[in-house]
Amino acid sequence: MPSTSSDVVLIGSGIMSATMGVLLKRLDPSLSITVYEVADTLSPEASDGWHNAGTGHAGICELSYTPHMEADGTVNVAKAIDIFQEFEASVQFWSQCVKDGILTEPPNFINPVPHVSFVRTDEQVAYLKARYTGMADHHFFKSMEFTTDSAKIGEWSPLLTEARGDESVAATKMDGGSDVNFGAIARQLLGWLGQQDGCEVLPGHRVTDLGRNTSGDWFVQARQNSTGLFTTRDTKFVFVGAGGGSILLLQKAGLPEANGLGGFPIGGQWMVCDDPAIVERHQSKVYGQALGTAPTMAVPHLDTRIIDGKKSLLFGPFAAWTTKFLHEHGRAIDLPASIKPHNLMTLIKIGWGNFDLVRYMMQQGTQSMADRMKVLHEFYPNAQEKDWKLIDAGIRVQAIKKTDGEAGIVHFGTEVLTSADRSMSALLGASPGASTSVHIVTEAIEKSFPHLLAGEEGIARMRQIIPTYAMDLKATDAATKFEDLARPARKTLGLEFD
Ligand SMILES: Cc1cc2nc3c(=O)[nH]c(=O)nc-3n(C[C@H](O)[C@H](O)[C@H](O)COP(=O)(O)OP(=O)(O)OC[C@H]3O[C@@H](n4cnc5c(N)ncnc54)[C@H](O)[C@@H]3O)c2cc1C
Repeated sequence: MPSTSSDVVLIGSGIMSATMGVLLKRLDPSLSITVYEVADTLSPEASDGWHNAGTGHAGICELSYTPHMEADGTVNVAKAIDIFQEFEASVQFWSQCVKDGILTEPPNFINPVPHVSFVRTDEQVAYLKARYTGMADHHFFKSMEFTTDSAKIGEWSPLLTEARGDESVAATKMDGGSDVNFGAIARQLLGWLGQQDGCEVLPGHRVTDLGRNTSGDWFVQARQNSTGLFTTRDTKFVFVGAGGGSILLLQKAGLPEANGLGGFPIGGQWMVCDDPAIVERHQSKVYGQALGTAPTMAVPHLDTRIIDGKKSLLFGPFAAWTTKFLHEHGRAIDLPASIKPHNLMTLIKIGWGNFDLVRYMMQQGTQSMADRMKVLHEFYPNAQEKDWKLIDAGIRVQAIKKTDGEAGIVHFGTEVLTSADRSMSALLGASPGASTSVHIVTEAIEKSFPHLLAGEEGIARMRQIIPTYAMDLKATDAATKFEDLARPARKTLGLEFD
């Protein structure tokens, strides 16, 4: 079996590996980097345009980041501010990539789409007003508007108010939101990476094994789909950016840090409308409150999507049963194969201790199109079934850990797991995911390649790539600095600032 070596091996061609590859190569042009992707095309899983909602999560419209009104009538908006700052790192990186010729034609991967939050009932109206008061006070959200006037909401998003009875409603809107095609970004980044000295991007290669070799470095074994040939690559650093496939690979790697780790797949579906007469009348991403027992990542939203230059409407997500960890290249045995003696009890306890989630999955798995239309009518009362089709979304494999205590916890957030010697980093979970990929990958680089970012020189090197790197833009006295950096970056990407 031929064996060669690379300084860095990236497993997977989604937004995370693509971002990791470009950041590392730009920080240290001498690095040799190999990317393996099981599919014959790049970035076909969670990062692909239709497999996620394409929301540039910046904390603007997602009510799940600011879930409650406190007893004193305020809403804590700290998490929304943090997410905005994390998304800003992505905006800055993408904009710099455009200037440096790594990304081209921004409308192919990002478009301005206002972000709207929409609520009903007196209680939710009071909550949204308190949230708005907290948000608009911060310079990130100063252009946010709030209204309880149904006519005004109709101007912002006409489909929300047509044929709606007389009920309490409220909405906020900010024009600075975006719709992002993360798959398109990943493919462009990898296109650039594959052309650099010492770098290879290899679609059609499934990583089948990885572990320590005798020198203490890693070996990564891959099988080429077309020939069945196995190759092995030795490396000092592995990034497991395999999305849903990461847990199975971590188990193969035998990392003590992954002991007890399990995965719980949640399939997804969208309703999509392509009728131009309807699509043209909605230009926003509208997020509501979680319905019933739905977990936060299943909060419904009605979104403008722009993929390959075509505008559509997307509504969902709806959850679906699956035992596969990947949509295209997953296998029905993924979930059973991931159950090991070290995570069995954790998985059982999760099932037992998260009855709401189990009930939600059962309800979602058995619903009809008519049931889905009822949910859509809460946003768009006039919607008609004939205008909508159901398509598959990506699969989220939620990480399950026993270190969270006896009951075990399903993690709905994104997590980076790093080996004790920092020679392996793996990404688990999904949300807010792709939007904050630059922030997430930067943290992984800080841990595993600290020498590249050390001192003033390291910060200056990174600021050539991410101009706001290591800046606190959320501090109350950073409003001017934020505007000076955020405005030109948005101009490059064709996004709104005010
Ligand atoms: C329904 C849904 C909606 C979402 N909505 C949003 C949103 O609106 N905004 C947002 O920011 N985020 C959203 N996300 C999250 C976002 O999609 C993910 O966080 C992000 O795409 C993860 O990127 P990744 O590179 O880690 O994984 P992926 O894009 O899944 O890439 C992993 C790659 O690894 C490959 N792979 C796996 N195993 C192997 C192997 N053994 N060998 C070789 N290759 C392998 C896979 O084929 C795949 O191409 C959503 C996710 C879902 C599922």
